[in-house]
Amino acid sequence: MSDPAPQSASRTAQADPRLHPEALYVHLPFCEALCTYCDFAREVYSDDRPNRYLAALERELAARIARLNAPFAPKTIFLGGGTPTALSEAQLEHFFDLLERHVDYARVEEFTAEANPGSADTAKLSLLKLRGVNRASFGVQSFQPHLLQLLGRIHGAKHGGEAVRRARDAGFENVSIDLMHGLPTQSLDDLKKDLDAALALGTEHLSAYGLIYEKGTPLTEASARGKIARLSPEDEGAHYRLVMETLCAGGLPQYEISNYAKPGREARHNLVYWRNEAYLGIGVSAAGCVHGERTVNHRAVDAYLNAVEAGQDPAAERERLDPQAKARESLVLELRLCGGLEPADFHARWGLDPESDAGFQAAYAKHAAAGLMERTPEGRFRITREGFPVADAILSDFV
Ligand code: SF4
Repeated sequence: MSDPAPQSASRTAQADPRLHPEALYVHLPFCEALCTYCDFAREVYSDDRPNRYLAALERELAARIARLNAPFAPKTIFLGGGTPTALSEAQLEHFFDLLERHVDYARVEEFTAEANPGSADTAKLSLLKLRGVNRASFGVQSFQPHLLQLLGRIHGAKHGGEAVRRARDAGFENVSIDLMHGLPTQSLDDLKKDLDAALALGTEHLSAYGLIYEKGTPLTEASARGKIARLSPEDEGAHYRLVMETLCAGGLPQYEISNYAKPGREARHNLVYWRNEAYLGIGVSAAGCVHGERTVNHRAVDAYLNAVEAGQDPAAERERLDPQAKARESLVLELRLCGGLEPADFHARWGLDPESDAGFQAAYAKHAAAGLMERTPEGRFRITREGFPVADAILSDFV
């Protein structure tokens, strides 16, 4: 890996969450089966691959922490993938051992593990809890058998609820579930049933994602061959509005385009991304942003393993944005939040003043005139409830 940052730069960076990471993302790419819509970096679990992968992960983690040239004591840790719970119990123990060898847990406030309702049994959930994980995030996606089958999920309709109950029994007080909308054949009635079932579980957090037809996935190919019919943009908009209305009325306020939480249970780790702050990312395909440089690791597991085992940095992409570009990117990320952005605070952090920036003011005026953006009585700029269903189009005007 390349040379560590100079000591003086590191000291300055250390106190600044825009530069020195206070969050850690770990990518564990193994899954029991591959879902039809997924283009994440992942592969089907086999007994022998994880041990080699974990050895590489430890090597990368040690090298990245050494490059910080400063103590690394994250406030948030996120285990994603892939499916962390696809690992065996022995492999999970091995993974937590390696993490503890390199990461100081003293300041950790939120420690999330993604989990599959089909593989997160009681023993694995108890193990996660025992090793410091305090937030479980289940990829439920739907409670409807025909939609789970369409998505290629390994779990059935009742498993989502059972997984949440097992997490409660294991002691998790902070549980999140993912649901999907905008699916082929998914009616508004299907969606309403899913939302009601999710609310009945009483989780602290819920992420609701509209289906994206990623290039090369079986679902996208089936759509191209005419085997499945995509929803119209009008129907997708109706799905989004139903999600927003049902969850907000059901006691889960929206705080971001796709995210809902009980007050105080917003995902702290994801807030780091939306505030464009620094974070360390390790594992195949993992992105990181440290001391102003963004890196993205190799997407293929073999390319990642070969690079790390050869003593090389597994980053396949590197980018250092100039301050102006970084500020514009931060604007777009922060406007995803329902609270929007506070102009003086934003100016102080990123050097761009929304009150006087001509590009910002022109885009804001256009969308405010259409009722899609507004200023709060406290002076924050934000997207309105009417604007959220078309947030992507709004945000593209701020780039
Ligand atoms: S379990 Fe998650 S990461 Fe694995 S294939 Fe399915 S969607 Fe992708």
